[in-house]
Amino acid sequence: MHWLFGDQLGPHFLPDRAGPLLMIEARSVLRRRRFHRAKAHLVLSAMRHRAAELGDRLTYVKAETYREGLERAVGTGPVTVHHPTSHAALRLVRSLPRVTVGPARGFLVPQEDFAAWADARTGRQLRQEDFYRWVRHGADLLMDADAPAGGRWNFDQDNRLAPPRGAATLDVPAPYRPREDEIDEEVRHDLDRWEKAGEVSFVGRDGPRLFPATRAEALRALTRFVDLRLSTFGPYEDAVLAADPVMSHSLLSGALNLGLLDPLECVERAENAWREGRAPLGSVEGFVRQIAGWREYVWQLYWYFGEEYRHSNTLNHTAPLPDWWSELDADAPQARCLRTVLAQVRDTGWTHHIPRLMVLGSHALQRGWDPAAVTDWFHRCFVDGYDWVMVPNVVGMSQYADGGRMTTKPYTSGGAYLHRMSDLCSGCAYRPSERTGDRACPFTSGYWGFIDRHRVRLAHNHRTVQAVRQLERLADRDLVLRQEHARGDAPP
Ligand code: FAD
Repeated sequence: MHWLFGDQLGPHFLPDRAGPLLMIEARSVLRRRRFHRAKAHLVLSAMRHRAAELGDRLTYVKAETYREGLERAVGTGPVTVHHPTSHAALRLVRSLPRVTVGPARGFLVPQEDFAAWADARTGRQLRQEDFYRWVRHGADLLMDADAPAGGRWNFDQDNRLAPPRGAATLDVPAPYRPREDEIDEEVRHDLDRWEKAGEVSFVGRDGPRLFPATRAEALRALTRFVDLRLSTFGPYEDAVLAADPVMSHSLLSGALNLGLLDPLECVERAENAWREGRAPLGSVEGFVRQIAGWREYVWQLYWYFGEEYRHSNTLNHTAPLPDWWSELDADAPQARCLRTVLAQVRDTGWTHHIPRLMVLGSHALQRGWDPAAVTDWFHRCFVDGYDWVMVPNVVGMSQYADGGRMTTKPYTSGGAYLHRMSDLCSGCAYRPSERTGDRACPFTSGYWGFIDRHRVRLAHNHRTVQAVRQLERLADRDLVLRQEHARGDAPP
């Protein structure tokens, strides 16, 4: 019997030899944490759709725990499984005497190859850019013989445009959205029932399922993205528009992380679009970098840094998350950026990379919230959140809790960055250029508060020393810091 976890749903997760299959829907997973309702819906819908597709070949067990489900389905029989995606699940499968664990699937580079690559860099900082070039070479992705296609590895300079002036939305075709079916209806009914009975509780709002739950839907989403939206992906990748949360993003993270799509097919489809003259190289490279670079890097670091990494807290941030944040109360803050982005998370369980990093993550970092609590919040509230992807993205990239093992400097900014890269500041109660007084932007004063609290550490980093010097030169520094301190955790 071969056991498929709920994030191993595509054809590339089937075992090489035909044989009986098992999936376990463990209720304890939903009981342990308060997930976003849309995420619980997506995962259950995807698992049940896969079970329906595999028909008699698959035994689908609904149990309290994985152990109980396994016991019921196979008793003492042998079981195989592909390497699961979290430390906890790996520990579980390794602790079961009759379970054989095979190599991971659904990523581009075997873990041993990454470990050898990283070990060869002992004493030097690991850099995503170096890793990405190594992957491009190894997988022959966007390469012309030994050189990067178009003569450049990196089109980031072309890909960091501010949103088009005066436009409320990017003028691009809408993304693929699935249509719900009777399996979704059954999932919704179950979630309602469990919630009513007090067995589970969720955050966020229920609404139509927005992300693919089947391989067929995922392929439709990929095709629509490559054919109609990839060309405009690059230039506005980092821009944010309040009325257009999706812009030209692919919305493929959920499907990739459920295992419905293989990363290689996504990047190959994008590369083909460029080779056939259907998409510009800058956009294609930007997309390939996200998947073959960032996604793959994050997966590899999760395993390479080991289980202790999640507890990193170099900056000693210990404040708990305030209730308005935990409850996704988007009406609580006055700051338009936080209101807008929290509302997107509340309503859909998704927002794109820059709101995650430079609004949500940056605010949490500036307020000094406990990075483990922030990681847990992101994990529960995002439809694409899984342990392997959240831990490096939040602990490392967003909260700098690893002291710089993953990134060279903390990702945080004053309001000026958000003003330049978004339209979120217009109509806001605060002014990005003001750091004191009633209209002081919480990101601007929060930025200086953060620099001040960690000035000793930041003065030793060549990428942040300039910010410390700027703080020292601020004529109203004491007033800024006093006001910032007084702000506390009230919603800004
Ligand atoms: P696009 O912008 O279209 O990018 C294409 C693909 O690249 C994504 O689908 C995703 O698979 C991949 N990708 C790009 N960057 C990353 C990255 N840093 N890590 C992993 N994959 C990446 N991504 C998740 O898949 N799950 C998460 O739980 C998650 N949490 C995040 C938390 C924080 C604080 C931050 C800063 C980023 C997080 N990301 C996460 C990365 C990224 O924000 C999302 O992958 C992306 O916004 C998903 O939308 P999309 O599919 O439209 O992505």
